[in-house]
Amino acid sequence: MSLLSCSRLGVAVGGKTILSDVSLALEVGKVTAVVGPNGAGKSTLLSCLAGLRTPSSGSVMLDDAVLSEMKPRERARRLAFLPQTPEIAWPVEARTLIELGRTPFVGARGQTAEDRTAVDRAIAAAHVEAFEHRIVDTLSGGERARVLIARGLAGEPEWLLADEPLTGLDPAHQLDAAALFRRLADDGVGVVVTLHDLSMALRTADRIIVLAEGGVLADEPPAMALTPEVLRRAYGVEATLTEGPGGPLIDVIRRV
Ligand code: ADP
Ligand code: MG
Repeated sequence: MSLLSCSRLGVAVGGKTILSDVSLALEVGKVTAVVGPNGAGKSTLLSCLAGLRTPSSGSVMLDDAVLSEMKPRERARRLAFLPQTPEIAWPVEARTLIELGRTPFVGARGQTAEDRTAVDRAIAAAHVEAFEHRIVDTLSGGERARVLIARGLAGEPEWLLADEPLTGLDPAHQLDAAALFRRLADDGVGVVVTLHDLSMALRTADRIIVLAEGGVLADEPPAMALTPEVLRRAYGVEATLTEGPGGPLIDVIRRV
């Protein structure tokens, strides 16, 4: 069983501490949500966990290997990362972009039937069939976000790390994406997502990590992580956890 972990992770830029002393052990087969206010260090943490950013101190391990020392191709086979503000450099068809998710597997002979099947499966899972042949520049933000989820899935990764994947999706597609994360986790994938919608985090995640000011404020099963005290300390708001018709609900009452 694969384990993605970090130990005493620290990131500092120009004398400013962005993350300090973050130790986590993440498991496959679970949806882990990372929440916290703007600037808490969520994106920085995710890019360190994806091996795309080298921490100033501490280390990130994928099983027994130090992530930053793994060959990029090997790392990319096991772990997919969906950035918060993806740059799509040139006008390509959505399907072509999704096929790039197979890059770590494609050999000198080019795409195999297996590659094409994996791309088809990813397209179906992320519901992008309707626009797989459109140029990505012409897609809406939410459609593009689903294309990027499909690109991540095309590599059939063991780990899917997604930075705010629900931002920009309408409610129905948010539910679809949350259900997809659940399904992936049930199939044994390690899903790590940063989220802003706390109620969505409660309903989607098996575990919630609350980051604030570069440190871990809580790391618990959902209902235990988002207590009124944690919400006050992390976000500076008075909020309560209630039970709504669709599941747990965070009601933000006022700033404190
Ligand atoms: P979040 O995703 O939780 O909003 P980020 O990880 O993007 O937070 O950023 C955490 C803090 O680190 C912010 O204050 C941000 O401005 C700062 N930061 C992130 N990257 C850099 C960088 N390369 N140089 C300077 N400051 C940075
Ligand atoms: Mg961020």
